[in-house]
Amino acid sequence: MREFTSSLAVSRIKPSPTMAVTQKAAELKAAGRDVISLSAGEPDFDTPDFVKDAAVKAIRDGKTKYTAVDGMPELKDAIAAKFNRDNNLTYDVSQISVAPGGKAIIFNALLATINPGDEVIVPAPFWVSYPDMTLLAGGTPIIVKTDADSNFKLTPAALENAITPRTKWFIFNSPSNPTGAAYTRGEIKALTDVLLKHPHVWVMTDDIYEHIIYDDFKFTTPAQIEPGLLDRTLTVNGVSKAYAMTGWRIGFAGGPQGLIKAMAKIMSQSTSNPCSISQWASVAALDGDQSFLADRNAAFKSRRDMVVKMLNEVEGINCARPEGAFYVYPSCAGLINKKTPSGAVIKNDEDFVLELLKAEGVAAVFGAAFGLSPFFRVSYAAAEHDLREAGARIKRFAESLA
Ligand code: PLP
Repeated sequence: MREFTSSLAVSRIKPSPTMAVTQKAAELKAAGRDVISLSAGEPDFDTPDFVKDAAVKAIRDGKTKYTAVDGMPELKDAIAAKFNRDNNLTYDVSQISVAPGGKAIIFNALLATINPGDEVIVPAPFWVSYPDMTLLAGGTPIIVKTDADSNFKLTPAALENAITPRTKWFIFNSPSNPTGAAYTRGEIKALTDVLLKHPHVWVMTDDIYEHIIYDDFKFTTPAQIEPGLLDRTLTVNGVSKAYAMTGWRIGFAGGPQGLIKAMAKIMSQSTSNPCSISQWASVAALDGDQSFLADRNAAFKSRRDMVVKMLNEVEGINCARPEGAFYVYPSCAGLINKKTPSGAVIKNDEDFVLELLKAEGVAAVFGAAFGLSPFFRVSYAAAEHDLREAGARIKRFAESLA
């Protein structure tokens, strides 16, 4: 039999490690192990009923055909209204793109702009797909590490340092996956001041966790803070996280018309339009009563506080309290080079996560996957009793190490 050889583009990338851990945990569960998975990147809440009702109505009304390639006008109107209402940004419908998920939006934008050798600045820890999508598009990811002391936030000096004549994009994500850290208005302004000095650099801001924020934190986005960057900023968002609609696959963005058109061209020759039913559901989500968001955030916040407290009670683990999303990114530095009861040495965060999964059936994602070690990501989009039990197991595991 002939051996399969992948393309050069595919050989440059690896499968999403977050999905791999979720998969491994699911396999152990299927084999009868009692596994608590804290590795998922999605809310454990269900899609709100009013959104589901809109989708059912769309099906019954026969809204089951192709739509405009990069989103139907009704959804683009709802998105323009959302940008206006939440972000004080005015986008014409010709400046809006809708795709099957935030992931597809980002990929289309990179594919539409990157030439071989173009550089994309990605602060670490990063959402796993930014570097690999850059590679797939033929670009070079420039990873800039942050540290726990600065709350995993990129400093203006580090950004300035990373910019070269080959820089195409700066990718910005706040609140962040995997750390939950969110930039204040002042912190964003300090970065946009640097960007203003470099007119060839485009800004991709991934605002997908915009609505999942705590303690009166005020979300802002770069183009809102520095309108001088509007003509080179792509403001990315979607319904996946806020509206618990990960399976519906709708992401969107506002940006300069030329870029939006190029992204539509890619869609016209690849995916075509995102699912028509999901688009109608998204109209309902964006236009509907948003008050359920506060209720869900209250639940997330109490879980965040509980998880941070439990983790900080474990010797060898140190956990910051982030402003948003549903992740924490604790350090396991104090446990590196220790031995499990069976003699395995924990050399790095990947070993830590793997041994924890084997010993206690708790699945988290190792920090190396996000470009910054020795840390691990815990998703607290899980039931409170599971989080409590997971906390006890992590403590027991850490105490078993010598
Ligand atoms: N951006 C970030 C930071 C994410 O965490 C995710 C999902 O995990 C996405 C984008 C992609 O979202 P979607 O499910 O809409 O493709």
